[in-house]
Amino acid sequence: MRIHAFHHLYQQRQALSTKVFNARGSKVDRCNHCQVASKHCICDYQPDIDSDVAVMLIVSDNEVFKPSNTGRLILDTVKEGYAFQWSRTEPDEQMLALLSDPNYQPLVVFPADYVDNKARVVSSELKPFCDGKKPLLILLDGSWREARRIFRKSPYLDNLPVVSIQPQAISQYMMRKSDNDQHLATAEVAIMVLEQLGETLASTTLERWFCVFREAYMLSKTRIKPDQTRPELKRYLTTQLENSQPTD
Ligand SMILES: [Zn+2]
Repeated sequence: MRIHAFHHLYQQRQALSTKVFNARGSKVDRCNHCQVASKHCICDYQPDIDSDVAVMLIVSDNEVFKPSNTGRLILDTVKEGYAFQWSRTEPDEQMLALLSDPNYQPLVVFPADYVDNKARVVSSELKPFCDGKKPLLILLDGSWREARRIFRKSPYLDNLPVVSIQPQAISQYMMRKSDNDQHLATAEVAIMVLEQLGETLASTTLERWFCVFREAYMLSKTRIKPDQTRPELKRYLTTQLENSQPTD
C-alpha cells in the first residue's frame, strides 16, 4: 500500500500526543493505516489510479485520530495529496508555499451560502477556470462546526476562489457529521467535486472505495449484524479488474 500524507500526519500527532485520544470505538484493535478493525483491514485493496488533480486536507484538531474520518480515503485515491494540521496562529510553511505556488489553482471547497464575498464563488466550469494549472482542492476536514471555524479564521484562505457544493447536498452529507456514527462527509464532498472537475475515474473510484471503507468499518461494530460476505468489497474488486482490462 502507498503511505501518504494523512498517515504521516497521524504518526506525527501520535508521537506528540501525551494522552490517548478516546474516540468512540477506541477499544477496537484497529489497523493504524485504514483505521478499520485489524481483522477487516482494507489496506491491501487501496486504489491505484492516476488523476490530474491535487488535494490538500486542512485537518481540525483531533480529526486525525477519529477512526471514522474519511478525508484519508481521498488521499488513498488521489496520489498527489497533502494533509496539514490546522493552526489559527501558526500555519504550516509548506502549506503556505503550496497555496502560493503558480503551478496550482487552489480551490476551497465550501458551501456558497456561508461565503460572505460571493465574488469568490466560482460560477463557471471548473476545468477552464483552472486555465491549465493543476487544480488544488482544499478540503476542511473536521466536523461541520470545525470546518466553518477553519474557513472563517484562516486569513491565508480569504482570497482563494471557492467551489460551492449544493445546499441540499450539504444537509445530506456535511451536517450529519454531527451524528456520531455518521461521521462520513469529507470523502463524499470530494466525490462530487472530482466529478465537477471531470475527474470521473477518481470520483467513481473514491465512491466505491468509500463504500468499501464504510462496510469494513461497520463490520467492527457489535451492535448491528453486518453482512459478513462484504458485497461492497466484491463490487469494488470487480470494477478494479474491469478498469485494468485494455480497452480498444
Ligand atoms: Zn489497514
